[in-house]
Amino acid sequence: MNILVINCGSSSVKYQLFCMETDQSLVSGIVEKIGAPDSYISHKKADKTYKSKQVIDNYFSAIEKVSELLTDETWGAVKTKDDIHAIGHRVVHGGEEFKSSVLIDKKVLDRIKYYSALAPLHNPPAYNGISATRKIFPKIKQVAVFDTAFHQTMPEEAFMYGLPYKLYTKYCIRRYGFHGTSHRYVSAAAAKVLKKPLKKLKLITCHLGNGCSITAVKHGASVDTSMGFTPLEGLLMGTRCGDIDPALIGYIMEKEKLSVQEVGQMMNRKSGLLGISESSNDMRDLSEQAKKGDKQAKLAIDIFIYRVKKYIGAYIAAMNGADAIVLTGGIGENMSQIKQTLTKELSNLMGNKMKMLTIHTEEEHLIAMDTFELIKR
Ligand code: ADP
Repeated sequence: MNILVINCGSSSVKYQLFCMETDQSLVSGIVEKIGAPDSYISHKKADKTYKSKQVIDNYFSAIEKVSELLTDETWGAVKTKDDIHAIGHRVVHGGEEFKSSVLIDKKVLDRIKYYSALAPLHNPPAYNGISATRKIFPKIKQVAVFDTAFHQTMPEEAFMYGLPYKLYTKYCIRRYGFHGTSHRYVSAAAAKVLKKPLKKLKLITCHLGNGCSITAVKHGASVDTSMGFTPLEGLLMGTRCGDIDPALIGYIMEKEKLSVQEVGQMMNRKSGLLGISESSNDMRDLSEQAKKGDKQAKLAIDIFIYRVKKYIGAYIAAMNGADAIVLTGGIGENMSQIKQTLTKELSNLMGNKMKMLTIHTEEEHLIAMDTFELIKR
C-alpha cells in the first residue's frame, strides 16, 4: 500500500510518498512560496533532486503539480493516481474534539475549519489543502493527524490557566500543546531503544527545532507540555520568545506605541534566538558566532539551554522521576553542546539511572502509519 503524506503550511506544501510494505519513503518534496511570484517546487527521488520555478497560485495548483510529479515517468514513483491508496494530512489544531487521528469526511473538514479560530495561521492552509486534495484524488480515503491530539491526555491541572474559569467555557482558552506527532513518535522509539514497554516508562521528550517544545510522557500519555494555547508559550525558540510575564504585553505596547498585532508579531517573529542575538534565528550560525566571541550569540544559546534545563527539572517533578530524556529536532539531534551541558548540569537530578537519548523524529512516517491503521479498519 502506498500512502501519501501532505503537510500544508502557510505558504508551502510538503509531501512524501511511503510504501508501507517495505516501510520505505519513495519520493518527497516541497512546494514553496505558494501565491508569490517566485514560487518553486523541489522534488526528491533517491539522491536526485528536481527543481522547477513556476507560478503556483494556490493549494489546488500546488497539489495538482505534486500529483503530476508522483506519476511522472522519470521523477515519479507510481504509474497512475490509482496507485496511491490513501492520504494522510498533518493538521495543527483539533481542539478538545480530536484526541486521535480520524478519517476525513465533510463533517471533519468543517470542524478543521472551525478550529481556525484557535490556529488562524495553521488550520486555514490545512483546510484549503485537504479540500484541494479531495478534489484531485476524489476516490482516495484521507486521514487527519492532529498536532494537538497527543496532548489531550493532559490533566486539568496542567492544561488550565489561572484565568477566570468562564474564559475556558466561553472561548476554549486553555493549554493545548503542539508537536504532538513528534513527541509521540520519539517516545515510542525511545521505548524500543530502552527495551521496555512504553506503558512502564516516564519520558521527557524535547523537540528542539525552529519551534521548540518539551513534553512529560507518563506511561505513553502526555501529562504536560511546554507550548500552550498557541505555540508561543514555553521554551525560547528560533524567533519566538516563549514564557514571559503577561504584563509585558501592555507595557511594551504603551512604550513602543505598538498595536496588539504588532506586539504579537514581535513575540512570534522577532524574538527568541533572533531577538537576543540580533543576528540569526539559526542555531548553527549562532554556534559559529559564539565561538568567534560574539557575546549576544553566546547569551542566546545560554538562555536557550537554561530554559530547556528548567523545563526538564519541572517535568521530573511533575512525574516524580523520569527514566529518560529524549532529544530530537534539528537542534536536539545535532547540537552536541546541548547534550553535553544537560548531562553535566543535570547530573545530580539524573543520577546514574536516567538516560539521555538522541532520536531522529519522523513525523511524516507516523502520519503514514496512522493513516495505514485507519484505512485497514
Ligand atoms: P523545523 O522545526 O523547521 O523542522 P529543524 O528541526 O530542522 O527545524 O531545526 C532547525 C534548527 O536546527 C536550526 O536552528 C538549525 O540551526 C539547527 N541545527 C541543525 N543542525 C545543527 C547543528 N549541527 N548544530 C546546531 N544546530 C543545528
